[in-house]
Amino acid sequence: AEKAVKYVYDFTEGNKDLKDLLGGKGANLAEMTNLGLPVPPGFTITTEACKVYLESGEEPAALRDEVSAHLEALEQKMGKKLGQPDNPLLVSVRSGAKFSMPGMMDTVLNIGLSDKSVQGLAKQAGDERFAWDSYRRLIQMFGKTVLGVDGDLFEDALDKAKQAKKVTDDTELDAADLKKLVTKFKKIVKSETGRDFPQDPREQMDLAIRAVFDSWNGERARLYRRQERIPHDLGTAVNICSMVFGNLGPDSGTGVAFTRDPASGQQGVYGDYLQNAQGEDVVAGIRNTVPLAELERIDKKSYDQLMQIMETLENHYKDLCDIEFTIERGRLWMLQTRVGKRTAAAAFRIATQLVDQGLIDEAEALKRVTGDQLAQLMFPRFDEHAKVEQVARGIAASPGAAVGKAVFDSYTAVKWSRSGEKVILIRRETNPDDLDGMIAAEGILTSRGGKTSHAAVVARGMGKTCVCGAEELKVDTKRRRMTIPDGRVVEEGDLISIDGSTGKVYLGEVPVVPSPVVEYFEGRMHPGADDADELVEAVHRMMAFADRKRRLRVRANADNAEDALRARRFGAQGIGLCRTEHMFLGDRRELVERLILADTEAEREEALKQLLPLQKQDFVELFEAMDGLPVTIRLLDPPLHEFLPDITELSVRVALAEARQEPHENELRLLQAVHRLHEQNPMLGLRGVRLGLVVPGLFTMQVRAIAEAAAERRAAKGDPRAEIMIPLVGTVQELEIVREEADQVIAEVEAATGEQLKLAIGTMIELPRAALTAGQIAEAAEFFSFGTNDLTQTVWGFSRDDVEASFFTAYLEKGIFGVSPFETIDKDGVGSLVKAAVQAGRATRPDLKLGVCGEHGGDPESVHFFHEVGLDYVSCSPFRIPVARLEAGRAAV
Ligand code: ADP
Ligand code: MG
Ligand code: MG
Repeated sequence: AEKAVKYVYDFTEGNKDLKDLLGGKGANLAEMTNLGLPVPPGFTITTEACKVYLESGEEPAALRDEVSAHLEALEQKMGKKLGQPDNPLLVSVRSGAKFSMPGMMDTVLNIGLSDKSVQGLAKQAGDERFAWDSYRRLIQMFGKTVLGVDGDLFEDALDKAKQAKKVTDDTELDAADLKKLVTKFKKIVKSETGRDFPQDPREQMDLAIRAVFDSWNGERARLYRRQERIPHDLGTAVNICSMVFGNLGPDSGTGVAFTRDPASGQQGVYGDYLQNAQGEDVVAGIRNTVPLAELERIDKKSYDQLMQIMETLENHYKDLCDIEFTIERGRLWMLQTRVGKRTAAAAFRIATQLVDQGLIDEAEALKRVTGDQLAQLMFPRFDEHAKVEQVARGIAASPGAAVGKAVFDSYTAVKWSRSGEKVILIRRETNPDDLDGMIAAEGILTSRGGKTSHAAVVARGMGKTCVCGAEELKVDTKRRRMTIPDGRVVEEGDLISIDGSTGKVYLGEVPVVPSPVVEYFEGRMHPGADDADELVEAVHRMMAFADRKRRLRVRANADNAEDALRARRFGAQGIGLCRTEHMFLGDRRELVERLILADTEAEREEALKQLLPLQKQDFVELFEAMDGLPVTIRLLDPPLHEFLPDITELSVRVALAEARQEPHENELRLLQAVHRLHEQNPMLGLRGVRLGLVVPGLFTMQVRAIAEAAAERRAAKGDPRAEIMIPLVGTVQELEIVREEADQVIAEVEAATGEQLKLAIGTMIELPRAALTAGQIAEAAEFFSFGTNDLTQTVWGFSRDDVEASFFTAYLEKGIFGVSPFETIDKDGVGSLVKAAVQAGRATRPDLKLGVCGEHGGDPESVHFFHEVGLDYVSCSPFRIPVARLEAGRAAV
């Protein structure tokens, strides 16, 4: 015989660690019950039952009897039966998956009420009005969430009833009004569904349970899971909880509470309370709540008990908890708790507070914060003391604080920004045509679309402030204006401010202040000093925890001394990527042009000879800034045409000169070169090591500059630690040739200067073939640095600049990936190549040094992956270094 599976758990049978089986809500209700806290009795139907239902379309055969048995036990305990006409037991049916999920079914309260039992409830409570109010709520919630009736129909009917009575508050409707409303609601159900509102209490309950199961596969829930990578087969639990009533008069009420301030982390009493109300009334904002502290005055006994319970919960969960509670005629009931959400600042402060209280250790503290939270704290923000006029709130899509003149099209954004104006680009929604405007703008504001809209995705990719989906704003791009909720109009050119961390939109110019956390990293603010606030102190301590725990080293992507020094202040342990192409721009462009255009060996050598001392000086400064720490220098990578003038511009110049019969020999030569070097897909063309192999003397000049700079620093008693990195290698043969030439140059410099330089030579791994043949490549490389940007492009066949603006939005919306593979490393594809290359490389050369220098080096999730596959370091832009340090610490605990 089949082993009997248990599908139903009484609240006394579960505990907080059974979230997989009982869902978050059910597991915590059980935990509170076992802690002896006042939880209304009830039971939970497991996710296993849901799974069977989802697979077979039917509840498991044993479920009905099991539910009956638990219901009977509940009825016994409560001394009344579900829906019993003279003395009804009422219950709520509440969904609750392992992860809380938008799009899941709402809770249905007051199950068990019918035309008959509503009378019984009235008698039981001695309150006619209360009974009819509860009944109309049941029909409304049940109708909407179980039977799928449009909720507005009920809302409209309720509004009409209030209007008829000339009142604004639903508490002002009396029993007779509510009774009439019940009749009306039942009519709505009948006409919308073709059936009567079910009068059998058990049928109500069973239908509600099934509706919770079904909601697991609702469209919004599915989409959410796909984007968040939550497996589709987890299923949801269902909680059946006996009702307690906050709507039984002024000595009753309902509220929410936090054990600490979820905004700042401060300890104290935080929450809202609403007298004479039930369930969602608090969050729905139907009436004005009072601060929780007022409860002390309203009902001291319940208040004291609540404070006690909050302390118990904090000590038990060792974290901030949020709580839902109800007071029924002076008696306190706990209806929900969970470890609560909090702001970034609160997360850091609470983690260190809990360490100080001895509740958690340093490793646990690191688990309580994230790199994303730290990144949020590093953005400049609006001065909180400034007088502001908030006019709307949208979705916080890409953090930062931006101020500028309102513009409503891309063309104006570009034009105005060229003339030095700061602009905010406002659109209903953006599309690829808006790209130039988005680049030119300080920030982007849209009235439509969510976190995966084009505006949001592209702005995050550019690190630009963005608020999207501010639906209260009426954007009229044709007339270049928008209307704010109070009817005023913002015209093109009016100043506005947007906060991408909160989604708030302000009229006028709000002053921006630097982040105190950045001031701290920059060394301009010191923890422990009088002016250091608690947040800085907390960040300082958490960084120390992370540095103690982490194995990964963190380096910076930096190519000048200024960035290198900042990186050091932020905690960099070297430079993982110094791009040399920036050293070829500006006034050196002309020399590079000459190098590219050289017809003869002599011309080329002359150009290289002039570039050499300039390059050398760059490196001397860099080695000095990073003295004692490794500096990885990548030899020239981009295609040559990037150093030549734009093809159209040059053609025009030539044509003009021809027409004016002016001499234009040079321009013509240049134009020919540009034509020759023009590539259809430069990403895969003549670049990286390929350049080094076909432009004689280019790489050796760079190597000589590095070697001479190192020798100079050594002579000056410095400690330069240069590493030479060859980009875009696909096969070991390429690397061997370059290496041989480089070794010779280095030997020459060593002989000439008498210095032992100990320069390491290694390669980037950024082509699939390099990753696949990493074992061979490691023969010629002392280190690998994974260039995960190019590797992502080549593994996916995505050209980054083209795909992000064109179809990534669609991909994100369809849930093909939850986040762009350029933001977070694609572990299954790109990541598995990285992993294989690490293993093959180390097999050839056990002391091979391994790092990563793509944008992923500063992305939290990716850092964890690089820790797991055993890299030695990650490298990222200076501002991401603290994030990488923190996440490297988190990965190690
Ligand atoms: P959500 O997941 O949306 O918070 P809940 O299941 O917690 O949904 O319920 C919604 C509201 O109804 C909450 O305010 C909750 O406290 C209240 N509620 C749920 N069950 C009961 C009950 N048995 N008695 C009184 N109020 C309840
Ligand atoms: Mg709740
Ligand atoms: Mg690259």
